[in-house]
Amino acid sequence: MTNHESNVVGPDVMLIALAASIPNAAVLGGFLKGFNDTSKLNNLIDSMRASSPTRTRSSSSSSLANNNNNASDNQDNINSWMVYHPSALNMFDQIVYNMKGKKIVTFLDYDGTLSPIVADPDKAFMTKKMRATLKDIARHFPTAIVTGRCRDKVYSFVKLAELYYAGSHGMDIKGPTKSRNPNKGNDKAVLCQPASKFLPMIEEVYKILLEKTKSVPGAKVENNKFCLSVHFRCVDEKCWAALAEQVRLVLNEYPKLKLTQGRKVLEIRPTIKWDKGKALEFLLESLGYENSNDVFPIYIGDDRTDEDAFKVLRNRGQGIGILVSRVPKDTEASYTLKDPVEVEQFLRRLVEWKRSSNQ
Ligand SMILES: [Mg+2]
Repeated sequence: MTNHESNVVGPDVMLIALAASIPNAAVLGGFLKGFNDTSKLNNLIDSMRASSPTRTRSSSSSSLANNNNNASDNQDNINSWMVYHPSALNMFDQIVYNMKGKKIVTFLDYDGTLSPIVADPDKAFMTKKMRATLKDIARHFPTAIVTGRCRDKVYSFVKLAELYYAGSHGMDIKGPTKSRNPNKGNDKAVLCQPASKFLPMIEEVYKILLEKTKSVPGAKVENNKFCLSVHFRCVDEKCWAALAEQVRLVLNEYPKLKLTQGRKVLEIRPTIKWDKGKALEFLLESLGYENSNDVFPIYIGDDRTDEDAFKVLRNRGQGIGILVSRVPKDTEASYTLKDPVEVEQFLRRLVEWKRSSNQ
């Protein structure tokens, strides 16, 4: 089960979300209640550090034995998790058996799915091999990129006009500018922008956050048009609370915006009921599959925000969700892949299966 309730957060819960990526975060609860008190905030930061000790190498035999035991425990956890969320590569034959005769539609997150997570989000490039595979996938199946990023930004990484692009967590959807079928002409229409009235507010908050987060080294604010990202992947853990406080103070003035958390990123978006799951439903409807029993959507993503899409597929009882992760996570996805390299391998096998089976 996923914990979607904590996805939309108030100021105090935001720190819980930050702390959630820290081992033993539960022990921090007492400190979080007194978040507004400076001394308790300091205690919180100390506690966060204490629960995330720096890894050190040790040559002592007892340390090595402990490390081996920990590695063995971790592997056991991964193995038992994968019983419920097996590798989509290992289960490929089973997957293609289930989708035989159905119309496949592929939905792909970008960061951490098609490209590795890198320190500088402006350099999250995907490989030539991945681009070639995506091009082949789009030749056979309607394909959409569904991302928290600005639509134009992700297009500058992917550079394939034949895909659908759902940027800003699906709040900015555009169809292919190059038709998969050349005889059908081009569709350059913007399909959906449900949060357009929030644009001036988002722009205003972007400028304020740029200014306010200057004091936090490594913090990077990205304007995704219909939402904002505050990346903390390069922020020293010591400054996480300061950054959270800055963002919280700004958002206090904008109750129509909400805060969610992704992988090493705080995300600010309008309080409308729209997410990657809604974007998936909208795209299926646009493709004429709203009430179809013959459609088989495949959604691949690595982020908490992708869980909304996994959940939609689970509720529809159609297609499959694939989580990209090396470590056990709560997820609504049915299958897993370890990293973008495995995502490319899975997509390549899908292309080869399509070509050989002439489905
Ligand atoms: Mg991602």
